[in-house]
Amino acid sequence: MLDEMEKLVSLCKRRGFIFPSSEVYGGINGFWDYGPLGVELKRNIKDAWWADNVRSRDDMVGLDCSIIMNPRVWEASGHVGGFSDPMVDCRATKERYRADQMYVFAYVFPRTNQKGEPTEAWLAGLGGGPEEAAEAVEKRAAKLAKKFGEPTDPPAVIPYLQVSAEDREKVIGPATDERGTLTEPRSFNLMFKTFVGALESESNVAYLRPETAQGIFANFKNVVDTGRVKLPFGIAQIGKSFRNEINPRNFTFRSREFEQMEIEFFCRPDESQEWYAYWRNARFRWYVDHGLQSDRLRLRDHEPEELAFYSKATADIEYAFPFGTSELEGIAHRGDYDLKQHIQHSGKDLSYFDEERKERFVPHVVEPSAGADRATLAFLCEAYIEDEVGGESRTVLKFHPRLAPVKAAVFPLVKRDGMPEKAEAIYRELKRRFNVFYDEKGAIGRRYRRQDEAGTPFCITVDSQTLTDGTVTFRDRDTCRQWRVPGEGAARALDDLLQGGSVPEAS
Ligand code: ATP
Repeated sequence: MLDEMEKLVSLCKRRGFIFPSSEVYGGINGFWDYGPLGVELKRNIKDAWWADNVRSRDDMVGLDCSIIMNPRVWEASGHVGGFSDPMVDCRATKERYRADQMYVFAYVFPRTNQKGEPTEAWLAGLGGGPEEAAEAVEKRAAKLAKKFGEPTDPPAVIPYLQVSAEDREKVIGPATDERGTLTEPRSFNLMFKTFVGALESESNVAYLRPETAQGIFANFKNVVDTGRVKLPFGIAQIGKSFRNEINPRNFTFRSREFEQMEIEFFCRPDESQEWYAYWRNARFRWYVDHGLQSDRLRLRDHEPEELAFYSKATADIEYAFPFGTSELEGIAHRGDYDLKQHIQHSGKDLSYFDEERKERFVPHVVEPSAGADRATLAFLCEAYIEDEVGGESRTVLKFHPRLAPVKAAVFPLVKRDGMPEKAEAIYRELKRRFNVFYDEKGAIGRRYRRQDEAGTPFCITVDSQTLTDGTVTFRDRDTCRQWRVPGEGAARALDDLLQGGSVPEAS
């Protein structure tokens, strides 16, 4: 399983999708850079999201708010007081963990050592969930059996935070084989702090936003006052957010700097359940429509006890990544909580006057909140396929054409007989409309393979027949089928295919 992830990370590095940030200086944990192919992929995802959720709708407008806001915003939103995760340190290894993501396994159970002392010990495992943690524990249990006794079967699984302070002494941390090296869980605020202006004093403290949503709430009145919107309507924003995550991991999945794509959809309280149901389904379908078609994609409704106290309902769109099933996007019915918090803290009237019904009220809000980096990672994981064509194995990224970084590659079969000139002319023509790539180096099979790895849906080759009848060879990434198209019709043919036109039979 992890192997799968290692292969993907290595492909991302090698082909220029994603690099560790500031790698020449040894990198910095939790920060990533998108390379030439990665930036196109992520931009296509953000553009598709914006086109589908903002531009094509009559009931949505966009915003682009500043990253640093008046710190009182974060007091009102509850982030200053409550945006924290419980953190645990290991004194032996200096590793730091999120206590809410640790599970304890009463796996190695009471035995006595040679001195007759009880050696009851619990193994702690980490993971996206108990299953992933169990896998990690399984491996260590055999090794530690000599020291602590035979594992019990089946192990009892307890979230670490439910273990009593006294029992925590028995826990062996995830990266050591000594007991009692974990500190007490401490609460750790995830917001990055900085100072605005010359003075580094408490009164100048500001925060890098941990979510884009609050910029939307803070501008609710401004947007309503522009007169362009009427309830029900949404405000959307794409932008960077920052969280000083305790344990950034799983490639870009949990980063300290990431991009969010968020909508706050405002509506009448009596219509809010319908809008919640609408967005919950619409957002799930969006991922399916863009290629997450496997049973790895799930929609999970939160249990009542999981809900924030103000939320009437929440659902997560989850993807089964190689490292575990985790959240891509959350859709939350947040009631009137956020606007009311800002009314209370700012003293401003953020209510809405319904002209038709002559009523004033605080709208309810449904929030679909997605991560551009997590979406990018899911599309990468889903697209990654190793298969065989003509007895040769290949790695291919089967991206949806709308998301593929490069739409087509143009090649001359060989570097003579005027083929490069013809190919370049087609490339120049296509480049006016599509992100295309030109390559004349190496054997044609190798060039196809390189494009497969980059996820390029189509290759267009100028060959000897082109010189006689003007047609070029189109090749489809997924089926490897090849067929001929008149050179001057290449742009139209490519456009049709990218719009979902079917790939012809091989010719
Ligand atoms: P998690 O439980 O995984 O920390 P969360 O529930 O705190 O996530 P939200 O606050 O709901 O996440 O944020 C909305 C979206 O922003 C998430 O669904 C995810 O796509 C993205 N996101 C949140 N934290 C990170 C992060 N550290 N790295 C990358 N994306 C993130």
